Amino acid sequence: MNKGRLIVFSAPSGCGKGTMLAKITENEKFYCAVSATTRSPRRGETEGVDYYYLTKEEFEQKISEGAFFEYASYCDNYYGTLLSEVTPKLEAGINVILEIEVQGAMRIRELSPDALFIFVMPPSVKELRRRLKKRGTESDEIIEKRVSKALDEIPYAKKYDYIIVNAALEDAVEDFFTVIRTDSLTVKAQGKFIDEVIENA
Ligand code: 5GP
Repeated sequence: MNKGRLIVFSAPSGCGKGTMLAKITENEKFYCAVSATTRSPRRGETEGVDYYYLTKEEFEQKISEGAFFEYASYCDNYYGTLLSEVTPKLEAGINVILEIEVQGAMRIRELSPDALFIFVMPPSVKELRRRLKKRGTESDEIIEKRVSKALDEIPYAKKYDYIIVNAALEDAVEDFFTVIRTDSLTVKAQGKFIDEVIENA
């Protein structure tokens, strides 16, 4: 059986990636790894669905046990992907999406160079600020911290393989599947097939 594809999916907070991922994972061939974090749950978030919520001590214990595929510190909290969320799914032929920030993504470039890197951009910073305010879950101070973080992250978009601008949800989701399809047609992805055709001639 073919192994699943590892997809690194990054976007500054407020770019609508959560809504995009909810749509994408309606397709059972795609699984979004549930990360662990030390930040508190936001209104409406559920343990084991949005994140595994850990204390700083529990998170550091897991770091020392080697339980993480990758982890990073972001806005004063730890965030990390557990190996147990990735390996079994890939082995089962399911594509695993890692919804992670740029530091973690750059580390994965080194660990798994074959992963597919997708960055989601807001149409503008003005629109990003408007969306963060509309969410209504964070103070103005935290919103400004996230906007300034977005401005730090956006230059890293140039190190990804594909950029999707999330101006309209349906279009952005369609772009995601176009990227996956296009990527599956590259010579690199089809190399094995070429060899099989020649061998079976
Ligand atoms: P939020 O607090 O808005 O849910 O997430 C903040 C940032 O942490 C987002 O950019 C998100 O992509 C990133 N993030 C979530 N999970 C992980 C993870 O497992 N590893 C890393 N490196 N970043 C993560």
